[in-house]
Amino acid sequence: MSLGPGSVDYLAPRAADALRRADVIVGYKTYVQLVEEFAQGKEVRASGMRKEMDRCREALDLALEGRRVALVSGGDAGIYGMAGLVFDLCRARDIAVRKGGFHANASPDALPVEVIPGIAAFNAAASLLGAPLMHDFASVSLSDHLTPWEIIEKRLDAAAVADFVIALYNPRSATRPDVLDRARAVLLRHRAGDTPVGVVHKAMRDGQRHWVTTLDEMASEEVDMQTVLLVGNSHTYVWNGWMVTPRGYLDKYGV
Ligand code: SAH
Repeated sequence: MSLGPGSVDYLAPRAADALRRADVIVGYKTYVQLVEEFAQGKEVRASGMRKEMDRCREALDLALEGRRVALVSGGDAGIYGMAGLVFDLCRARDIAVRKGGFHANASPDALPVEVIPGIAAFNAAASLLGAPLMHDFASVSLSDHLTPWEIIEKRLDAAAVADFVIALYNPRSATRPDVLDRARAVLLRHRAGDTPVGVVHKAMRDGQRHWVTTLDEMASEEVDMQTVLLVGNSHTYVWNGWMVTPRGYLDKYGV
């Protein structure tokens, strides 16, 4: 289930309900801390970064024992999150699943699973910046942990050619601190240096900061793993500090 970007104000009521009904909460420790108020009196199994496989296996084993498990994921669980891994593992281990989750009746022959959606980092970031996602957009994770850099570069290049607004996730990697600079170089093949870039750090969390810069001027030192960037398309403008991608209403209908 999805936790949204941080503050519980942005947690879906259905997700809050799942946390309340759960016997066990399993997740990355930073995320579990964000929903501490729901964890009172529950068994909590929190683990560190890059332990996704362990967390998922543990959650599945607990669920197969008949416990009600909330496997939590930041933002939206289905976007670079835990949801896909649950299905991958069930498929590989031949575990029968059915649609249901916390609202289903127990069934002896299939594990009820529900994916509860949430506000992803790019949604949260867009709202803080203004309205940068009013037109077609693409999202690219710069993490080369599971995806080779050649594929990341190919997708960035294609998204830049097609003039998509581009969300950049995981903009800094522990092993390759220069991925954002490499990504910028790819984008600059097709996009002007003065293209607006919105940088959002810790959206809807304590320590939230955001600003608008340009492809030429964005400084990768100010970016970390709790940052998401939105790169404008060729029509995106900045007005009074807001970043906006026009959809074209005024061109068609006038003011
Ligand atoms: N499932 C998440 C993404 C997980 S990948 C989602 O739907 O948004 C982790 C990356 O997401 C981070 O490296 C960062 O780029 C971005 N991210 C997640 N939460 C964020 C937040 N509150 N503020 C800024 N970026 C965030």
